[in-house]
Amino acid sequence: MENMDRLRVLELYSGIGGMHYALKESSVPAEVVAAVDVNTTANEIYKHNFPTTPLLPKTIEGMTLQDFDKLNFDMILMSPPCQPFTRIGLQGDIADPRTKSFLYILELLPRLSERPRFILLENVKGFETSAARDALLETLRECDYSFQEFLISPTSLGIPNSRLRYFLIAKRLPGSFSFPTSAEIIEGFPMSEPPDSLAVPHNHPTPSESEREKTGTIIFKLETEQELEKKRNQDKQETVQRLQDFLQKEEDVDRYLLPPKTLLRYALLMDVVQPSSRRSVCFTKGYGHYVEGTGSVLQSCVDVELESVFKNFELLSEEDKLKQLLQLKLRYFTPREIANLMGFPADFTFPKQISVKQQYRVLGNSLNVHVVSHLIRLMIS
Ligand code: SAH
Repeated sequence: MENMDRLRVLELYSGIGGMHYALKESSVPAEVVAAVDVNTTANEIYKHNFPTTPLLPKTIEGMTLQDFDKLNFDMILMSPPCQPFTRIGLQGDIADPRTKSFLYILELLPRLSERPRFILLENVKGFETSAARDALLETLRECDYSFQEFLISPTSLGIPNSRLRYFLIAKRLPGSFSFPTSAEIIEGFPMSEPPDSLAVPHNHPTPSESEREKTGTIIFKLETEQELEKKRNQDKQETVQRLQDFLQKEEDVDRYLLPPKTLLRYALLMDVVQPSSRRSVCFTKGYGHYVEGTGSVLQSCVDVELESVFKNFELLSEEDKLKQLLQLKLRYFTPREIANLMGFPADFTFPKQISVKQQYRVLGNSLNVHVVSHLIRLMIS
């Protein structure tokens, strides 16, 4: 493909390049003309994997209108910092200093000598109710874009990992989309999409209370019956792949085993999955360090039943509790396995000097490559 026919893409808040991988996967003829991020660790990883892409290690608000105009881009791919909008963050929204660069982009957009044809934004669930989102929509209307908002999790592509995120795709008028747009946020992909995925997961009926009694399932751990039910149903979705397809075979995984202290302290709070499971919870940046709410842990010895380990657990001495728990060989997913679940290709690697903790951190900030790749294609078509 001639250089002239390729879309010129600006990747803002580029991190480790999740957007760049999605662009490659979409097979849309394009090149990233500039990636911008201030984080030195993320930038080292980006450069390692995309050595020829111009990477600007500076703040977005440090770039002038002329700097942007010179790049002459057709598309913006961006994932602004999400902390101002997360449930556990303080929801500082537009008052949070981390939103400043995003508001700066919104200010620049109408002033560009030529507005980009396409814009894709990714953020956390919660962004849709923020003032930053209202400002974005207002700017897009003012600048003559048609757009669509989504809430999508990788599970809708048959990937056994939950990561519900907000997405917006925008197209400069007179361009229009190939699917019926809506003022409402679309949950999942529009009806016709994704064309090449396995299938649309069909809902299995929830077993009734009495059926559950018949199966004699014990509820263990600090989980509500509802949560447990949901997990069990997720494991029955045959259109979703099993975790085993994403695991590393030969890697020395012993170093990822949970230490005894962590086991004893968090046993009842951890989300435990097996290689045969068809689900895992969202991996966040504290994974591998904090256990609670940061991602699932893997039961690597499946000869023992999880439920038998937790049976009468409360009554055991600390020593016996530990003995029970150790049988499960609970371990963290490795950074490579998380990268697999997030759709990073096999040729994505970390430079030697990046610690495992740093790897978890940057992956936790990144995105599902397959989901974004589908959205890029949807935006272009
Ligand atoms: N999509 C990226 C991750 C985005 S996380 C990926 O695939 O990895 C948000 C990123 O924005 C972080 O890497 C952070 O360093 C960067 N960032 C935050 N504020 C910034 C600013 N003002 N200017 C440039 N980069 C910024």
